[in-house]
Amino acid sequence: MIIGAATGFGVGVWMQSSLVEAALFTGVGAVSALVPDLDVNGKLANKITVEKKWLILFFAAAGLLLALYSYFLLFGVKQAAGFTASVALLMLPRLFIKQRMMLFFTGALVVYVGWYINEVWIMYIGLFILFASVVSHRTWTHSIIGIILFYFVAAEITRAYPINGLLAALVLSYISHLLADMKMLPANKKGTKFFYPLWKKEF
Ligand SMILES: [Zn+2]
Repeated sequence: MIIGAATGFGVGVWMQSSLVEAALFTGVGAVSALVPDLDVNGKLANKITVEKKWLILFFAAAGLLLALYSYFLLFGVKQAAGFTASVALLMLPRLFIKQRMMLFFTGALVVYVGWYINEVWIMYIGLFILFASVVSHRTWTHSIIGIILFYFVAAEITRAYPINGLLAALVLSYISHLLADMKMLPANKKGTKFFYPLWKKEF
């Protein structure tokens, strides 16, 4: 999350963005750097609580972003709905986090919401969550294919919000996670399978 935030901020500096945009990229980077680990392994769910913490952190970060978005950009009923959803994102995962199942339903719900309010980028985010909820941990989402699929999501977000540097902040933060998972860092026992499923070598 910190590496992603730093990456997003770096894009802001590199693009000479305004302070608000740099802050946005920092937040966006923090969230999208957590996205690859949405592929938590269901079988290990009961043993590895760290992964639950990641999920809770991810939804909390998304909830905070949504709260900021609602505060600055939404008004009236939509703002109230935004705040309600962000409180739900902050609170609910702690109460009933059953890993895959919850993630799958979240993805489905996000796709439905995107379809209902006619926002394609929200549907794409939902589709990516669905994808991450059905694959094994550190496989597809941690590969070049995962990067390409996330690029499509990021491109759609950028089409909705054409801010210079947003696409780079999203995609580079995602990639920063895969780099931070590499074996060359002593903390990692497992590496990143960049060429999954063609070549299962861990880097
Ligand atoms: Zn990872």
